[in-house]
Amino acid sequence: MPLRVRFLGTAASRPTVERGVSSLAIIREGETFLFDCGEGTQRQMMRYGISFAFDDLFFTHTHSDHILGLTGLIRTLQLQGRTEELRLWGPPGAGRTLRQCISLGGERTSFPVTITELEPASSVKRDGFRFDTFAVEHHGGASLGYALVEEDRLGRFNPDLARALGILEGPLWGRIHKGESITLDDGRVIAPSVLVGDHRRGRRIVITGDTRPCDATVAASVDADLLIHEATFADDEALRAIETGHSTAREAAQIALRAGARRLVLTHISARYSRDAHELEREAREVFPKTSIARDGTEFELGLTEELAASGGSADQQARAID
Ligand SMILES: [Zn+2]
Ligand SMILES: [Zn+2]
Repeated sequence: MPLRVRFLGTAASRPTVERGVSSLAIIREGETFLFDCGEGTQRQMMRYGISFAFDDLFFTHTHSDHILGLTGLIRTLQLQGRTEELRLWGPPGAGRTLRQCISLGGERTSFPVTITELEPASSVKRDGFRFDTFAVEHHGGASLGYALVEEDRLGRFNPDLARALGILEGPLWGRIHKGESITLDDGRVIAPSVLVGDHRRGRRIVITGDTRPCDATVAASVDADLLIHEATFADDEALRAIETGHSTAREAAQIALRAGARRLVLTHISARYSRDAHELEREAREVFPKTSIARDGTEFELGLTEELAASGGSADQQARAID
């Protein structure tokens, strides 16, 4: 069951010809979750094949480069005749701004829109996974990072071997799968390790939104399969990063290193850097070699146990292939 991350907008503060402002989609087992909704997000969704049949949109904070796409997106959902509830999530205080964005598209929507303000260190629970929040350090109001955390899964059950051992399909299969040794009628004892593979570790994806490097991100990113960290600036603007509440690529890499994350992807790239942002990539890789720069359309796919199957290294090709 793949878990895919698709970057829809990767620019900081304002769009450029190559990059839209912040948004990304996570697709898990056919379900789509959006994170931030900068101007133009709905068009990026069409361009990169992200379904409008999503139910949850998480906001890291309410700066305009993360929310201005909400008005148009909701208007389009309405024109499409949506009736299902849309759930918006954001940090404390976000509700008022989000309601303003919605009302700009018209007084009423044809479908219910709920807005929930999430405290840091809270969770939105789903069947088999959850979204954890953590407080990041950014300017101008509360800002949240999010971690998608899957529960560990039972190891794979081997039905062919079970049948070969004379254990017919039925309740016994479930008991063995859950770790119980069983005794058959002929006295043989079957340990679960005979028929069930190793536990499969749940996956973890962390999204920081805009932030200074901070301990909360490290704590949320321990053993993360993928850390998506903002990197607005390169070393040459390190002071500006402090002044504006952002991070440099090198600072993001230091966070990934401290957390022991498996892979780092940098986004929220200032327009002052080239399309490929090679300097950011180079500076980050000096600290944390498994770093990629996200581009609009870049997709990462995480298998259940293996390393990331696709990388951002060929982001341009991937983006082109989808056009
Ligand atoms: Zn921003
Ligand atoms: Zn911001």
